Amino acid sequence: MSEIRVEFLSKRYGETTALDGVSLTFPEGSFTALLGPSGCGKTTMLRLIAGFEAPSEGRVLFGKMLVADPTRQLPPEARNVGVVFQSYALWPHMDVAENVAYPLKARHVSSADIPARVAAVLDIVGLRGFEKRRIDELSGGQRQRVALARCLIAEARIILFDEPLANLDMHLRSSMVDAFREVHRRTGATIVYVTHDQAEALALADRVAVMSKGQLLQAATPQEIYRSPADAAVAGFVGRGSLISGNTVNHSGQTSTIDIAGHRLAARSHGEPKGTVKVLLRPEALHIAADGLPATVLDSVYRGPVHEVRLALSEPGQLLLIDSTEALATGQRVHVAVSDAWVVPGA
Ligand code: ATP
Repeated sequence: MSEIRVEFLSKRYGETTALDGVSLTFPEGSFTALLGPSGCGKTTMLRLIAGFEAPSEGRVLFGKMLVADPTRQLPPEARNVGVVFQSYALWPHMDVAENVAYPLKARHVSSADIPARVAAVLDIVGLRGFEKRRIDELSGGQRQRVALARCLIAEARIILFDEPLANLDMHLRSSMVDAFREVHRRTGATIVYVTHDQAEALALADRVAVMSKGQLLQAATPQEIYRSPADAAVAGFVGRGSLISGNTVNHSGQTSTIDIAGHRLAARSHGEPKGTVKVLLRPEALHIAADGLPATVLDSVYRGPVHEVRLALSEPGQLLLIDSTEALATGQRVHVAVSDAWVVPGA
């Protein structure tokens, strides 16, 4: 029942197509991040799953049950879906325990059972002892934990998060990332998590669905998305790296030999790339060495653990990014050894 399937799902608002024929399955118990730039349709997808909007085309299924198509929609309260928003949607005049218990009261659960259940979910989100605090006496991170606890107490098998960390500072964000993983581990709920923060998506989810302009570009594990992006848009949106032009020399199995400015390197590839291709080179797969791609240092920026160094290859406009433990002088000529490369399909 808690598998979510969207089929050819579209949503139009007047002239705007917010979602454009997306098909995607969220397996039962999976944690999927919907990742993409502002306006790509992530929130619209979430609202269609929750039942706050009706599809223009296509349908939404939970397991085998049809929950929405353009003509019929199960109301949100009948879907047993928990939703955690960026704005906490808590009642400021109630205390923590009252906010968390609200879904049980709405379902007329016996009041004798409520305190123990409130305590159990506050324990999961790390807020035991805060029962009597008013919402306006809590920090942003604590409020988000209350919203999460309220969602957990309803025992929703599907939980939707809409940029829940957008209002929190960096330190709190990382502690909340741990809290979300814990919730997923303890509940086994199917989670769909909307974010435009690629680091958050890679850290949290077991699957990442990258969207652009209302369409799905790729849905895969974080490792596949990062190492083998389906196209140049995904490569550009997720992680740092350089897309370098080269010419295919030959191809064997899953590996192609690519010539870049007279230097040959082995690159992973799908299918049989031919002619001119774009190769993705991530900074951690590049090292200054005695032999390799000839390049000239453009600049070096101190990033804390490493210096991020930009290098120009001999062909104009071809730039590499590497992480170096030492600063390199502008104008210095170096060679770059490549330990991993990926031929980006269609690029
Ligand atoms: P963000 O990260 O900025 O929240 P998003 O990826 O969640 O963006 P959506 O909120 O799904 O994007 O919006 C997708 C597109 O649909 C945008 O162009 C948006 O302006 C438009 N849109 C969303 N809701 C409505 C609405 N109620 N009426 C008209 N247009 C809308």
